[in-house]
Amino acid sequence: MAEAVTVDAFVRWLKHFAETVHDSAGHLTQLDSAIGDADHGTNMDRGLKAVVGVLDTNGFDSPDALFKKVGMTLVSTVGGASGPLYGTFFLRFGSALQGVESIGSKELGKAFRAGVDGIVARGKAELEDKTMYDAWAPALEAFDQAAADGLAAALSAAASAAAEGRDATTDLLARKGRASYLGERSVGHQDPGATSTTMLLESAAATLV
Ligand SMILES: [Mg+2]
Repeated sequence: MAEAVTVDAFVRWLKHFAETVHDSAGHLTQLDSAIGDADHGTNMDRGLKAVVGVLDTNGFDSPDALFKKVGMTLVSTVGGASGPLYGTFFLRFGSALQGVESIGSKELGKAFRAGVDGIVARGKAELEDKTMYDAWAPALEAFDQAAADGLAAALSAAASAAAEGRDATTDLLARKGRASYLGERSVGHQDPGATSTTMLLESAAATLV
C-alpha cells in the first residue's frame, strides 16, 4: 500500500482551504452580492478561522474525531446556509472514515459521497439548481472514474470536474436558496457555493497526496 491519507494530511487540507478562502473572501462575497446576501466570503472565512484555531490547539488521533470537531465548529460559526451544509459534509465525511485502517482512493471516494449525500439531504438540491451540488456531483463522478488510477489522479480529476461544474452554474437559473427569488436575474452569475466547493476540492488535490 503506497498511499494512504493521514490525519496530518487532512489537517493540511483544511488549513490550505482556510487560506484559499481567506485570500478569496472578497471574490466569494462579491459573487454572493450578485445573487445572494453578500456574506459567503466573510462567513466562510470566519468559520474556517475558527477551524484553524481548533486545529492549532487540539491533537486528533483519528479522522472521524477530527472531522466531527471541524463540522461542529462550522455549524456553530458560519451563518446562512453554508454553515450547516459544509458542517454536515464534514460530519458525514468523518463518520464514513470511522474505523477505516488505510485511506486510499476507494475509501476517500466513499467518504466524499457520504458527505455529499448529507449536503443533498439537508439542502434538497438537485443537479442544475445552481448550488454547490453542481460542483460536487461532477466531482464525485470524476473521482470514481479515476479512482483506479490512484489518489492523485482521482483528486485531480475531481478538482477539474468541480471547476467545470462551477463555471457551468453561471448560465443556470437558480432554483434553490435566496438566489431563486431573483428568477431570470440569477442567470449570468457564478454560484458562490459551487465556487467555494471547487476551492475545497482543489485544496484536497494540493494536499492529500
Ligand atoms: Mg449568503
